[in-house]
Order: sequence, then structure tokens, then C-alpha cells
Amino acid sequence: MSGEDSDTFSLLRQSVRQFIEKEVMPVSQKIDKEDYFPLDLFRKMGKMGFLGVTIPPEYGGSGMDYTAQAIIEEELGYASASLALSYGAHSNLCLDNLYRNGSEQQKEEYVPKLARGDWIGSLALTEPGSGSDALAMRTSAEIQNGTFVLNGSKTLITNAPYSDVFLTYARTGDSYSAFVVLSEDNGFSRGKKFDKMGMRGSPTGEIFFDNVKVPESRLVGNLNGGKDIILSGLNVERVILSFIFVGLARRALELSVKYATERKQSGNYLHEFEMIQDKLAVMYTKYQTSRLMADRALNGIKEDNMNVMDAAAAIYHVAESAEYIAREAVQIHGGIGYVREGEVERLLRDAILGQIGAGTTEIRKKLIAQGLVKKYKKQGRISD
Ligand SMILES: Cc1cc2nc3c(=O)[nH]c(=O)nc-3n(C[C@H](O)[C@H](O)[C@H](O)COP(=O)(O)OP(=O)(O)OC[C@H]3O[C@@H](n4cnc5c(N)ncnc54)[C@H](O)[C@@H]3O)c2cc1C
Repeated sequence: MSGEDSDTFSLLRQSVRQFIEKEVMPVSQKIDKEDYFPLDLFRKMGKMGFLGVTIPPEYGGSGMDYTAQAIIEEELGYASASLALSYGAHSNLCLDNLYRNGSEQQKEEYVPKLARGDWIGSLALTEPGSGSDALAMRTSAEIQNGTFVLNGSKTLITNAPYSDVFLTYARTGDSYSAFVVLSEDNGFSRGKKFDKMGMRGSPTGEIFFDNVKVPESRLVGNLNGGKDIILSGLNVERVILSFIFVGLARRALELSVKYATERKQSGNYLHEFEMIQDKLAVMYTKYQTSRLMADRALNGIKEDNMNVMDAAAAIYHVAESAEYIAREAVQIHGGIGYVREGEVERLLRDAILGQIGAGTTEIRKKLIAQGLVKKYKKQGRISD
């Protein structure tokens, strides 16, 4: 995408890069080491129009499309994957989802606050007993006198320790529905914040619902329409989040080339050793194929003709490549790559999340294989 940004997108990329160089790069190591969530940067991203980039101006956003969101994710991913993850959870999983599926009243009430960064948002799907099998969730919403009463809990929720708004999925009888739950609701509470191996600084936590009463006006979409909302959002989430790892891979590659041109051993620069050249060549090729697949998937979601198989294949390849590239970056840096003063060990820890969040590698592979079989049965061949 970066090679072919239109004027508008190249201006956006420039302004995100300026913001990142000035505000994010200087603190990206501190964010990781101290595991702190830079709320001030989040608020600034709201003021600069990044948080609500896909939201029309009348609801407080910048009125751009998913390319703009992918650019922000990629550039943030280059500087601080954890900030990029929190951004994705807020701006795509919660805000954009609420805008796509919410009622007019919900859009007026919640969307501008989230777009400006006055409020922080989360998407709450995963539970202690249901991750990959999300529809095995136990959190329930019972209707009592025109009010929904929520009971249950959610875990591993990005931004939960700070969020004001939770787009929450719950069982409604044999089906599922989505609700807006506010942190100020009676009966809502937060549990622990997880101490993670990577993506430190992106706060991940538990939340509990103990007879939380939400009015019917907080039902998102139709009653029992939750499964459709989950499924319709999955491709978009996978594609947008994959750009975090395109950015991370670019950073790992860049640091590796830099180190290979600065470090000498046995009288040669590292880049003069064939085995290091081999690594750089494979890293670059994996980075480029990741970018191509992510861009193709992005065009697919923009044109609304993205199939589940190709979205899964894009994020599968991007995430696996990013982890590979970050691992090789550590190797190229030798011993210093393993210590915490440098950046590459953080990139490797952060990259691992790429194979877990937004559906695991195994689930992505399952979707790819299922898609192939379906295609073959329908067409009798495997072509585009
Ligand atoms: C940092 C972080 C942030 C997150 N943010 C959010 C968030 O904002 N909102 C949210 O709702 N969730 C969030 N999650 C949860 C995330 O979506 C889940 O962790 C993920 O979907 C996997 O679920 P699980 O952890 O329960 O693993 P499980 O589903 O228990 O899987 C365990 C292992 O079994 C494999 N497996 C499971 N089922 C199958 C199968 N059918 N076939 C083959 N293999 C299988 C998995 O691939 C995995 O290797 C986050 C997680 C992390 C770590």
C-alpha cells in the first residue's frame, strides 16, 4: 500500500509518521518496560482524528475509509505494536463496529465521545470458557420488564482496565445479542489486569456483570442478531489488525539491515556474510508477500467482496511472517538482540500475539482449508 498511496492517504501517512516520531518512538520502550498505557497519547490521537478515522464528520470522525485505518495501524505497529493493538480494539473492534451496527440514538450518544477519545472502548467477546469457540459463551442477558439483565464475565479484553464503553456479546435464550455496557453501570466491575509477555502497555483485563441492567435502547442491532454482528465483523477485524504486524515486520527488518551494516566481525560487516544475506533476503520477501496479501484483503473488505478464506489467509501469513522476521532480527543482533535494552526482543514478544488474537493460527488454517474444499466442490477447481 505505501508505494501507491493516493495524495490523501500519503498526507495521512505523513501526519501519522510525524506524530509517531515525535510522540510514540521516544516512549515505545518505556511503554513496554513499565507496562503503562499511554492515555495521553490516546487522547491526542482522538484530537488528531485518528481514533474516529472511519467515522463520518457528523459523528465526530474524519470520514475516511479502511485504508486510512490500515495506514494508522501499520505506522503504529512499526513504533509500538501495543499502542496499535489498543488503537485497533478501540477504533475498529468497538467504535467502527458500533457505528456499523448501532441505532441512530447510539451513534449520537457514544460514537462522538469515542471518536474524540473522551471515552475509551473495548469489544467484549472472549470468556474464561470460550475463546476460539466464541459461541459457547455463558454470559446471559435476560429481558425483564423491558430491561436486559446481564450476568457473567469476559476475559482477555483489550483496554478493559480503562474502557468506558464495552460492546458486549451475551446469550439471549438460544441466540446471541450485542449490547452497549458502560463502566458506570451498577453491577459492572473490572477484575485483574493481566501481566503479559508482550503487547505490554496495551492493558488487557477481566470484566464482570452482576445483574447489570441495560435498557432496550442499548441493544446493538436486532434482538438475537449478535451472531451476525460477530461474523460480519470478523473479516474487517482480521484485515485491519493484520496491518499492525506488517508495520512490526518492517521495523524488525529495518533494524536488522541497520545492524548488519554497522556491526563488524572477523573484519567484515555482518551483511557481507552469506548466511546473514540469506536471512535478510528471506525476511524481505516474507515482508513483501505479507504486505501484498494484506493490501489485497484490504481492497476486498473495502469492496465488500472479501471471503472468509482469503481474510484468514492474509492474517495467517502476515502474523507468521512477522514472528519469523522478528525472530531472525534477534538472531542477526546476536547476544545484544536478546537483552532488553534493544528493540528487537520486544518485537519478537509482541509478534507472538499475532498468532493468537483475532482468531488463532489454527482457526485461520481451519477456515482456509474449509474455504478451499467449499470452492473446489462448487467449481471443480481452485482458481480465483
Ligand atoms: C493480548 C490479548 C488481547 C485480546 N483482546 C481481546 C479483546 O479485545 N476482546 C476479546 O473478546 N478477546 C480478546 N482476546 C482473546 C482472544 O481473542 C483469544 O485468546 C483467542 O480467540 C483464543 O482463544 P483462547 O485464548 O480461549 O484459546 P483456545 O480457544 O482455548 O485455544 C487454545 C489452543 O487450542 C487451539 N484450538 C482451539 N480450538 C481449535 C479447533 N477447533 N481446531 C484446532 N485448534 C483449536 C487454538 O488454536 C490454541 O492453539 C485477547 C487475547 C490476548 C492474548
